[in-house]
Amino acid sequence: MGTAYRVCKDITVHMNIATEPSKAVAALPDAQIVTEVQHYTGSLFRFRTTRPRSLRFRAGEFVMIGLMGDPDPANGKRKPLLRAYSIASPTWDDGLEFYSIKVKDGPLTSRLQHIQPGDQIILRPKPVGTLVHDALLPGKRLWFFASGTGIAPFASLLREPQTYEDYERVILTHTCRETAELKYGADLIETIRGDELLRDLIGDGFADRLTYYPTTTRDDGPKTGRVTRLLRNGTLFADLGIDRMDPEIDRAMVCGSLGLNTDMKEILEGFGLREGANAAPAEYVVEKAFVG
Ligand SMILES: Cc1cc2nc3c(=O)[nH]c(=O)nc-3n(C[C@H](O)[C@H](O)[C@H](O)COP(=O)(O)OP(=O)(O)OC[C@H]3O[C@@H](n4cnc5c(N)ncnc54)[C@H](O)[C@@H]3O)c2cc1C
Repeated sequence: MGTAYRVCKDITVHMNIATEPSKAVAALPDAQIVTEVQHYTGSLFRFRTTRPRSLRFRAGEFVMIGLMGDPDPANGKRKPLLRAYSIASPTWDDGLEFYSIKVKDGPLTSRLQHIQPGDQIILRPKPVGTLVHDALLPGKRLWFFASGTGIAPFASLLREPQTYEDYERVILTHTCRETAELKYGADLIETIRGDELLRDLIGDGFADRLTYYPTTTRDDGPKTGRVTRLLRNGTLFADLGIDRMDPEIDRAMVCGSLGLNTDMKEILEGFGLREGANAAPAEYVVEKAFVG
């Protein structure tokens, strides 16, 4: 399902859209075909691939994806070069979407950033993860706290009907260094608000229960400052008309840098929320957006 994304005039966006290639031959083990690529900045892009028929996942989970590595100089053999990636598309989508960093000299992303529609990537169809509804106890308000590419699992959860069936209010905060890095999330929210399929699935007015709160740390974006600071000094609550977080009402998922995750754990526990897991659901869950 190739979503047409709006091209913003102040940001360079290169978009290549291909429909499912009819003659694509999957030569790699676990190969999937790239169907669409969109670059946002020099360090961020999204892409879509075909989805294996057998792949079932829960919104918020991640899989291992990658490319074949260079030949080993000793024996000439090539091994897959795989990294963890959150699935950004919802479970009902025919294809898969990923949102990626481009790390300079990164073993995978220095190459992955050059993929084009029709190319193949490797996808190991074994989804796992803690950012899932099953790891949270029932609540009324669901918070998604993301930094950088940590928004990816929430892009899936935000398009999942269960999110709006289970919660009265859904709040996404996304913190990046610069405004240009917010575009993926801003486009996502705009698409969700206007999506007729989601409205049919979830019901009229569902988008009114969704709050988007983007912040930047290095330029004058819509709101300046780390979300952790805005939480600690009460600005976030004042802006949203919420008194404070309450373990009876609030549930939270956190995905970002080690700094965000560590600080958010302390803040959430300060409000009385406890960390949950698949086997022991509680009030909040955390997952790192990358290692390092
Ligand atoms: C559970 C999990 C889910 C992940 N989901 C995603 C995802 O949806 N999208 C994504 O782009 N990456 C994601 N990552 C990170 C991803 O696995 C790779 O690290 C990334 O693609 C870079 O690969 P690389 O081989 O080029 O560089 P690597 O050798 O893997 O990383 C080199 C260095 O780059 C930095 N880095 C890596 N990834 C990021 C990132 N996403 N944001 C900022 N800095 C980073 C770190 O400092 C790291 O030490 C996830 C990681 C984990 C553990």
